[in-house]
Amino acid sequence: MSGGRVVLLGHPVSHSLSPAMHNAAFAALDLPHHYDVLDVTVQDLPNAFALLRTPELVGANVTVPHKESARALVDDVEPVARATGAVNTVFRRGGRLVGDNTDVHGFIAATHDERGRSVLGTRVLVLGAGGAARACVHALLPHADVFVANRTPERAAALVRDLEVDGARATAVPYPTSDAALAELRVDAVVNATTLGLHGEDPLDGVSLPRAVVDLIPVATETPLVGRARRSPDTIVVDGLAMLLHQAAASFERWTGVPAPLDVMRRALPRRA
Ligand code: NDP
Repeated sequence: MSGGRVVLLGHPVSHSLSPAMHNAAFAALDLPHHYDVLDVTVQDLPNAFALLRTPELVGANVTVPHKESARALVDDVEPVARATGAVNTVFRRGGRLVGDNTDVHGFIAATHDERGRSVLGTRVLVLGAGGAARACVHALLPHADVFVANRTPERAAALVRDLEVDGARATAVPYPTSDAALAELRVDAVVNATTLGLHGEDPLDGVSLPRAVVDLIPVATETPLVGRARRSPDTIVVDGLAMLLHQAAASFERWTGVPAPLDVMRRALPRRA
């Protein structure tokens, strides 16, 4: 198999756990690929995509804050990326650059038990309205009533307007949330799809935890929200590393065409996923 570079395009990206996971998987399967990070500002994103068209590169992941803008920079967009409006994976098909979204698969895999049942219940509040929130809402809509709260309300309104699955849409609600709002909405689970937690913030600061908590923040040290939820005996916790692992495995398969070695990738993470 011909190898090459895979890059993570984002800003910031230096904290990313993806290189360790992907490089361990490439090595375990003796693949001639290498994964590294490219810190790219919004202005530089088109140049980074021009680089992706050179033979040296076989693909990319796209992360904060570029997932929505990446859609316009590829030749073809897979159905799930079109439906969510967010691209997190770029791969080659023939001579064309294809944009895909493996976050949806990652979220579903991380939030279902071995018997294929969602651990989140049927009423879910998603905090955030960026690319990650779009993937979560798309994954949740077929099975749950979904509420979206975002700091910038116009962005939550755009998400609600753009995303429809089988006739179902989310409902935009005020940000930040509160005990009263969670009780009124009868929320079973809250998903943190904001960037809060990267620097020690708790997006549910001062709010009692619902039955289940998903924190998408994929960092080496557990976030305050995950720590608080783990200390609460009745709370189901889904850590961002679980979604990171499963979206990575699906991206790996797009670039290499071979099944991802999930256990190798899991062991390359700094904590249990
Ligand atoms: P975007 O930049 O597209 O969106 C960021 C979101 O965070 C927006 O809703 C933004 O609100 C909100 N936000 C940023 N700063 C604040 C703040 N100070 N207070 C309240 N809200 C804030 O990023 P993505 O959607 O791509 O990613 C969001 C997070 O999800 C990232 O931390 C990313 O690493 C994580 N993620 C994890 C994955 C995993 O596998 N575990 C997969 C995908 C993403 P506003 O619109 O008001 O700016």
